Amino acid sequence: MADTITPPTLPPNASMIQMIEALWRLPRDLVSEGYDDALRALAGQLPMTIHEYPTGTPCFTWTVPEKWHCREARLETLDGRVLLTSRDNPLHVASYSTPFRGEITREELLPRLHVHPRLPDAVPFRFFYYTRDWGLCCTQALKDSLAEARYRVVIDAAFSPGTLKVGEAVLPGQSDDCFVFCAHLCHPAMVNDDLSGVAVGIDVMRRLARLPRRRYTYRLVILPETIGSAAYLSHNEALIPTMRGGLFLEMLGTGHGHVLQKSAPGDSIMDRCAALALRDDGREHAVGDFLTVILNDERMFNAPGIRVPMASLSRTLPQGHPEYPFNEYHTSLDCPERLVPGSLEASRDLVLAIVDMLEYDHVPTPLFKGELCFSRYGFDYARLKMSLMQVLFSLDGQTSAVDIARKTGSPFAVVRECLEGMAAHGLIDKAWPTPV
Ligand SMILES: [Zn+2]
Repeated sequence: MADTITPPTLPPNASMIQMIEALWRLPRDLVSEGYDDALRALAGQLPMTIHEYPTGTPCFTWTVPEKWHCREARLETLDGRVLLTSRDNPLHVASYSTPFRGEITREELLPRLHVHPRLPDAVPFRFFYYTRDWGLCCTQALKDSLAEARYRVVIDAAFSPGTLKVGEAVLPGQSDDCFVFCAHLCHPAMVNDDLSGVAVGIDVMRRLARLPRRRYTYRLVILPETIGSAAYLSHNEALIPTMRGGLFLEMLGTGHGHVLQKSAPGDSIMDRCAALALRDDGREHAVGDFLTVILNDERMFNAPGIRVPMASLSRTLPQGHPEYPFNEYHTSLDCPERLVPGSLEASRDLVLAIVDMLEYDHVPTPLFKGELCFSRYGFDYARLKMSLMQVLFSLDGQTSAVDIARKTGSPFAVVRECLEGMAAHGLIDKAWPTPV
């Protein structure tokens, strides 16, 4: 019986929506053929190295799991009527379920049949990464319709040695010091969590590749959640001291306002630029401390012995909201139709604005004394008045351009215009700080 799906392909330079529509339905489990197919298709979008870590490889305190392949999971009546099959939707079987084939009673079945507590039309996402068990997932209506005493369950799944794969795209800069974008790809048949962050990360990198020069090196890592970060970092420890900061990306198509979750230190250059970009963007947004918004691979990067200040950017509802982090989270309803038009593009542009700040930031030192005679140097004083004043009086040889914008409330673009005007007349010297 044919159980392989033709691997998807993407046109060169596919749009974010094209990437999502082509790859979202794949059964992208942690170590799986569906995940590999998705990563292989994405590797055609930009130069990418695929690192492979075999099953059993130690990664700090973690171990690479076995590959899981499910040919089909099926629930049927004893007379052969199929009630659900993973061929309709991979979410009908809990990821990493153990194989099972047999007849069970309704009472035995019900505890293993998962529904969503709030969305009766949704098939929930369940997984057994750290225990050996099996489960099926369905809508509330299907569960309510089960009136027979006995059912047949088939979970035609197998565990085998495989390789966990991490995609890494690198854009070299003048410095080896780098910033890391990170997104996970291991959520089967869902979009906002997690393919949206992958698509934004790839589109950001493609646009950064076109810059005539880059001060810093940029990396995008695409991986299975948590274990992928452990595998990548534990096998690239020499790179860790070059990682000046990072940004984890996900849930960027929901249409909710952006939420910045700060890194563990909370005041790294990535934190400061991201907060400033959100402020200047002007649209609804929120900023939360580390571990208070949404938990993902930024945990591994910020953890003891690594300490890369990785923040995260998402579009979640506030913690405590009944639909947190977003209405369709971890269900079959997290599908392309729920993407809010323009949301991914706005998130991509926000990340590009953050990079623009990282690249420009420097410490200006005045080479003049006294209040500047602005008219002598051609500044548009009528338009820039207070911003010029604020920039002028912030020039202490210690405060960076980004921090001047943050402290004065002037938009970064205006601060930059003032500083570039001064630099054009040789009025300031620029020092490039070590970003921390
Ligand atoms: Zn998730």
